[in-house]
This record gives sequence, structure tokens and C-alpha cells, in this order.
Amino acid sequence: MSDLPQHPRTERPDVVPPPPAFAARANVGPGLHDRAAADPFAFWAEQAGRLQWDRPWDEVFDDARWPTAQWFTGGRLNVAVNCLDRHLAAGRGDVVALHWEGEPGDRRTVTYAELHEQVCRLAHGLTELGVGPGDRVVLYLPVLVETVVATMACARVGAVVSLVFGGFSADALRFRVADTGATVVVASDGQFRRGQAVPVKAVVDEAVAGLDHVEHVLVVRRTGETDLPWTAGRDVWWHDLLERQPARHEAASFDAEHPLFIVYTSGTTGRPKGLVHTTGGYLTHASWTHWALFDLRDDDVYWCQADLAWVTAHTYVLYGPLSNGATQVVYEGSPLTPHPGRHFEVIERYGVTTYYTAPTLVRTFMKHGPELPAGYDLTSLRLLGSVGEAINPEAWWWLHEHVGGGRCPVVDTWWQSETGAAVVAPLPGVTPLKPGSATLPVPGCAVAVVDDAGAETPPGVEGNLVITAPWPGMARTVWGDHDRFVRSYWAPYAEQGWYLAGDSASRDADRYVWIGGRIDDVLNVSGHRLSSIELESALVSHPRVAEAAVVGAPDDVTGQRIVAFVIPRAVPTAEGDVDDGGLAEELRAHVAARVGAVAKPREVVVVSDLPKTRSGKIMRRLVADLTAGRGGGDTTSLTDPTALAAVDRAWTAHRAGS
Ligand code: ATP
Ligand code: MG
Repeated sequence: MSDLPQHPRTERPDVVPPPPAFAARANVGPGLHDRAAADPFAFWAEQAGRLQWDRPWDEVFDDARWPTAQWFTGGRLNVAVNCLDRHLAAGRGDVVALHWEGEPGDRRTVTYAELHEQVCRLAHGLTELGVGPGDRVVLYLPVLVETVVATMACARVGAVVSLVFGGFSADALRFRVADTGATVVVASDGQFRRGQAVPVKAVVDEAVAGLDHVEHVLVVRRTGETDLPWTAGRDVWWHDLLERQPARHEAASFDAEHPLFIVYTSGTTGRPKGLVHTTGGYLTHASWTHWALFDLRDDDVYWCQADLAWVTAHTYVLYGPLSNGATQVVYEGSPLTPHPGRHFEVIERYGVTTYYTAPTLVRTFMKHGPELPAGYDLTSLRLLGSVGEAINPEAWWWLHEHVGGGRCPVVDTWWQSETGAAVVAPLPGVTPLKPGSATLPVPGCAVAVVDDAGAETPPGVEGNLVITAPWPGMARTVWGDHDRFVRSYWAPYAEQGWYLAGDSASRDADRYVWIGGRIDDVLNVSGHRLSSIELESALVSHPRVAEAAVVGAPDDVTGQRIVAFVIPRAVPTAEGDVDDGGLAEELRAHVAARVGAVAKPREVVVVSDLPKTRSGKIMRRLVADLTAGRGGGDTTSLTDPTALAAVDRAWTAHRAGS
């Protein structure tokens, strides 16, 4: 058992109750956790009832093909009809679906009726291109209205969509097009990236060269590139295709277990896995959690800032909010273009009420100081969300105070590509918040923290996070590699039938879940299991540290020794500098006071940047490889390979100097 205090202490309260005025009118009140736990299948059936089914299900849950779960078997529905047609039928066609804003500042407002018409036209267009139920369509697009239209049109005709981040290289795109065996790739002529128009079509041509299954490349005009490379017969302009299609489309219904999309994991731990999600269960989980966790109201202007290619946006921009008829902001570009206050400007412009973001971005804003958000009117905000990594308490408070004006609950949602939707998260009108914890399982979900043998760990002790009961949003397989699906997630606790999430965690005396990091990133120092997140949170709570990555380097005596790579708030004189004005000593003392003496980093290395995935997560695996003298790890998910080179240089300089 660990003798360490569980979490860094701060002068602020440990528990933040829901503001009474918020709780009084929240969508979900007390008692739901217990009611759902008493009969989870009945609970999820009730939530499935929020959707429009063309044929009711026979069975809520069927485990005949376990670990491929089946939900709502026999039921039939169309996802696009649920996200569009039924809102029109309810007289809500004039409601704004999307306030879209491009990076250069161009804007479009799209109502549900307008979105519906575009989707109907593209549904006919896809049929003309030979796309039918079960065929795969890859989208390689920035965050455009067309990207939303394309996902909905695919659902409408039963095609399986896979969104690829527009910033990926030709190789990364090729891997996903080949892996899915897509027949159509939708791309744009070019993209805006940090203020620059960048040509894209040539990248697509390179990516699909020789892949005979690709019959068409559908091209959206975005940047107006001239001299576009064009393959006659294969390449089709989006606007030409849509113009010749009827504005109405009769949608067929699909089986509840019909595949809806393939989403690739971010690749933090290895080669990305293509998780397959299906129709009825997924939409139930996405739709209900979006409504409940973000406390959706008719007058909300909701904004989830994730790129559409991440699972976050699948569930909490596309399928969840659209199925609920929400009004949302979608923004194409970088948060720092043309200035670091761009997000706050957008919040002010549209009167955003709900802002769902990521810890990495909060830490970036923090570097600019509270003056940055203070320059904007953010009083429309009433709820904040966080996802992607554990949010360091320091970042939680900064978001709460400087963006949320101290009045907005922060809904920290733990989930994964594999889980489809949130599994651990607070109900904003009910759950007392603890900054840094995603709190409790959402109603209808069940998790545990266990040791390798499956025994629950005592409060405060790290173990493996497992999901102990089936949930409707669960992935059904890894595309083309069912064996990997079983091996990665279900084999380790096959006897119990539990899902292994791959994250370490602990629970406190109130059963709150504290994510500690990836299982592979857990440090083991003289027999103590220490979580990377806990140490990093302690480091970033020091006023001189902006960001930190902590890894365990091999050590003959202690097993592992703790090495902390830190980005200081003030720019250092030299990377890897050991003569750092006493920073290393200060940080060691700070961590010892906050976490415990055993957690003191043995080495502190100053760096200017850290390697991150495209979705902004720190890739500790690659940093650990450096300190262990290993190389050759998979770097294809890195947003900027020069960051790793910078860490390498700093590490080499540090070793030479120490
Ligand atoms: P790969 O599986 O390829 O390594 P990935 O795990 O980064 O990539 P995602 O499915 O996008 O890909 O991310 C899910 C992971 O993100 C979780 O397993 C967890 O480690 C982390 N995560 C997401 N939300 C939270 C949160 N609120 N608190 C703590 N960790 C989170
Ligand atoms: Mg993962």
C-alpha cells in the first residue's frame, strides 16, 4: 500500500458543489445514479426511447457474440433521420444547427432545414458514386459545414464513415484509406493552417495512388487553389455533384448493429486502432450523455472545440448534439490564429453558453496569463467541459475562475475512442466536483479499479481502471483485426468479463475516480507505484512551470528513477540547462511537499517543447524511450517531430552536464 497522500494539496477547497441556481433548473436531478444502477438495461432502454425507431428492438442487450456486444437487437433506425428529419417534423427546421466560422474569419449560419437539404443532396450524390450500405467513405477535411454534411449523408445511406484529421500526412491518410478499404475519399482543394492556405489535393493523390478500391475522390472547394491536379473519371467536384441531385431523399432504416463509423485512436500508446461503432446503442449513449452531462437547454449555444476527426467530436459535435437538435458553434482553425484570444472572441461573438475543451489548450492559455480571457465578455458561459487527459487541478481552477467567472461547473469527462461516449463524468446539477477527478461513473455505467488479479484496490491505491458492465456505446471490434480487439481489451480480465481501459486510476474514500495516466506510464520507484499525472499536476502547480512530462528512467537501485521534463513559464536560457537558477531544487522540494519524498524527481530537465499527438496529448512513451536509450518508437501520430528532437537535445545536454 502506498503511504503517500493521494493528491497535491492546494489552498482551494477540495470539493466544489453545484451552484444552487444551476442545480435548481438542471436537466438531471438527484437519484438517477441509484435508479440506473438498479436496472441498467431498463435505464438504457428508457434513453433509447428518446430516439426515433422505425422498428422497435426485440432485446435490449444480447451477449451471444461476446465480447462483441449487441444492443437493441432487431431494432431499426436511421441516424441522419434522428439528427435532422425529426427536428424538421417537430417544427424546428428554422433553428440554427451550426454557427460555422472559418479560420480567415468567414462565417456561415446553417439551420436544421438547410443542413437537411444538403444532406439529402449528398445522399443522392453518394448513391450516384456507387456508395451503398456498408461501403467505407474516408473524409480528409478540415472543420467545414461540408464535413458535417458528409458524415450525415453517409449515415443516411448506411455507409461507414471514417474521418481523418486534415493535418495528417499522405502516409497517415494512406494507412487509414487502405485499412478501411474505402471506395470514396472526400477532401478539399486546400486548407487554412495557422493563417496560410495550404494545398491538399496533391497529398490526397499521393495517398490513394495505387489503391484500386478508391473509385472516387470528391473535392470540396475551400481555398480556391488553381492548377489543381485532377484525375478525370475519378475526381468529382462537390458542388457539381450536389447541384444535379434532388433536394429530398427517402431514407431507409438500418439495423441497430449496422456499423456507423470507424474511428482511429490517437496513437499515444502505439499503432492507431480503428474502432468500429454501430448505430442504435452508440446513438443512445451519445445522445443521452450529451443532453445530461452538458445540461442541454433550448437556448444554449454549445461549443465543443475538438477537431471533427477526433472521437470527442464524433460524439459531442456530430451525433450527440445533432440528435438533440442543439445549436452549436463549429470553428475551422487553430485556437491561436490570428491571436491567442481567438476562442474567447468566438465565445463572445456567439454568446456561447457551453464550452467543451481540453487540458492542453487550457495550459496554453495559462501561459498568456488571466489577462487573455479577461479581455473578452464571457458572461454567456454557464458550463465548461474538459476531455482528452486528466486536467491538472491548477488548470481546472484557472478554467473555472478566469474563463468561467467562478460560476460554471467544469464537467471533466473520462472516455475513450473505445467507449464511444463518456463513462466517468459528473452530472453538473448533482455531483460535487473535485478538481482533477472525472468524479463518478455516469448513470448506467459501472467501473472499478483493480489489481492484476482483479481485486479492488483500497482507497488511494493505484490500479487498473476496468469497466465492469456492458454499456451501449462500446466499440464492437477493431476494424480488420478482431483479435487485437479481444487481446487488448478483453483478454486480461476474460474470466470476469471486464473491459481493460489501459489507464491507471485510484478511487478515493468517496469512490471518486482519479485517472493516473496510461498503465504503461505508471512509475515504479522503490516499490511505490506513482502516477505520471499526479506528479505532473504537482509540477504545474509551481508558479515557474507551464507544462511537464514525467517518465521513469531505468535505475539499478530503485527500479526506476523519476525524470521530469518541464517547460518553464519564462523562456529558459538554454535547453537542457542544468544551471537553471535553482529551479531543479525548488521543484524537488515542491513535489516532496505536495506528494511525498519518494516522488521527488531525481532529475529535472528544462525543455522548450514536448512531443504531443495531434489531439494535444503528451507522448510520454517517446520521452521514456529517450531516457532509456531506446529509439524507433512509432512517431506517426506526432503533431511536430521537432519537439521530440528538442527533448533529445535537452536530454543529451543535461546528461553531459550532470
Ligand atoms: P491510443 O489508444 O492509440 O494510445 P488514445 O488513448 O490517446 O490513443 P483516445 O481514445 O482518443 O486515444 O483517448 C482516450 C484516452 O485519453 C483515455 O484512455 C485517457 O488516457 C485519456 N483521457 C481522455 N479523457 C480523459 C479525462 N477526462 N481524464 C483523464 N484521462 C482522459
Ligand atoms: Mg487509448
